[in-house]
Amino acid sequence: MTIDPRLQSHLPSPVLQGKTLWIGGAWRAAAAGETIETFDPSTGKVLAELARGRKADAEAAASAAREGAARWTALSGAERGHVLRRIAEAVRARAESFGLLDTVDSGRPISTTGGPSVAHAAALFDYYAGLADKIHGATVPMGPDATALVEREPCGVIAAISPWNYPLENAVTKIAPILACGNAMILKPAEQTSLSALLLAQIAHDAGLPAGVLNVVTGLGAEAGAALVEHPLVDKVSFTGSTATGRRIAALAGEHLKGVVLELGGKSPLIVFGDADLKGAAEAAVFSTFMNNGQTCTSCNRVLVAAEARESFARHCREAAAKLRVGDPLDPATQIGPLVSARQLQRVEQYMDGLADERLDIPGYLPLEGGYFRKPAIVTTFDHESRFAREEIFGPVMAIRSFGDDDEAYRLANDTEYGLAASVWTTSLAQAEQARRRLQVGIVWINCVHALSPGTPVSGHKASGLGIEYGLEAVEQYMRVKTTVTMHGGWRSPFA
Ligand code: ADP
Repeated sequence: MTIDPRLQSHLPSPVLQGKTLWIGGAWRAAAAGETIETFDPSTGKVLAELARGRKADAEAAASAAREGAARWTALSGAERGHVLRRIAEAVRARAESFGLLDTVDSGRPISTTGGPSVAHAAALFDYYAGLADKIHGATVPMGPDATALVEREPCGVIAAISPWNYPLENAVTKIAPILACGNAMILKPAEQTSLSALLLAQIAHDAGLPAGVLNVVTGLGAEAGAALVEHPLVDKVSFTGSTATGRRIAALAGEHLKGVVLELGGKSPLIVFGDADLKGAAEAAVFSTFMNNGQTCTSCNRVLVAAEARESFARHCREAAAKLRVGDPLDPATQIGPLVSARQLQRVEQYMDGLADERLDIPGYLPLEGGYFRKPAIVTTFDHESRFAREEIFGPVMAIRSFGDDDEAYRLANDTEYGLAASVWTTSLAQAEQARRRLQVGIVWINCVHALSPGTPVSGHKASGLGIEYGLEAVEQYMRVKTTVTMHGGWRSPFA
């Protein structure tokens, strides 16, 4: 079994032997004994082997989750909250391990994985821990003779399918609200970046999460993922990933009449009005476009700038981008690592095909040999109807286009199938207010970008999703409603 020695002290020992299915509180190999490899994107070398889960494994996980749901709902909300708080602490205590695992598995720099991403993941557990005992129902007035009681109960078993771009945070964004409501779940992490989810499963167990409440099935989307979506013991599906895969999952879930929560792609605008702080806006555009190599669903890399400010803004962008440090993600000074996979690098190159090569002069671009690195690019000349201009690229590429007046700015911003996020730069209060009203997106950032907390809901509009992540609102989708009407004065049949 191939195993990168750097992983040794960070993962449970069965995981190092390829037993990466966490089912009913125990590690096991795939029923068919098959494995897949996971790679270090900064060198292209194999890191470890993962169990290749299929239908039989999804079946085992769904049965275990059913039993886990019974154990979990037997606890009070306060007790569940207490367990989630202990998991938050355990995540913080293993920050170094989570940082290392996500960095070698996904290529995200260690400066972003160990500290900020662990803090964010732990904060999500704390936030939803606090909600676990505050989920309650309502009564509906029905006159003097009847009482209507509306309760919210957990859905049951949820399958959560997560992507590779922010492995730990994206998993926890699902896990924390799903468990806070009293559901059990099966997580199918992305095949490229499953390692941190495996550590998380073990520490959640050690922190007191009952067996079967959180199960993890590794494997491929079309196999393990699809098998979970279809499984009759799975009540609901929560997915984060590309819009194309989201459509497939929604179609399959629809056949089985299962609800879905979908957090999908984006082509988010960053609008710079003529009155804006151009240097600040440029720094925001560079951060939003290039952080995690543009592999961020809310990346605002479709930059729209007032025509009169275009030249000066583009210069500020080039200056800010020239300072980027791209290279070994394990170097604490690195800001950008490789793309996640050879396939993702190839996808990005396809979008760039035929475009004038506007790759920047970046002295700090120091790729490692064999890694999936790509030099950040700022593109100012392109066909506005091309795939480059209209589709989500998920790579380190900024597109700058100018607009004449406000109406054109908002028309261009909304002229996309997506509706996830927007960042707006202006010093005018009236313009900020207009932006909030006119932009067809789930989150608007005014004079900032990527400012989020566990309490701020994000709900993709249009093809960016179906459902909500973060906030009080996220729990609603993992509960179902039950109404009980009691008549006090005796019921009389209308037929009588
Ligand atoms: P990418 O195409 O870059 O791999 P996806 O959005 O397809 O990104 O993947 C996000 C997650 O969805 C991953 O965990 C992946 O395994 C899973 N997935 C992919 N295809 C399917 C599918 N047909 N059914 C269920 N899950 C899937």
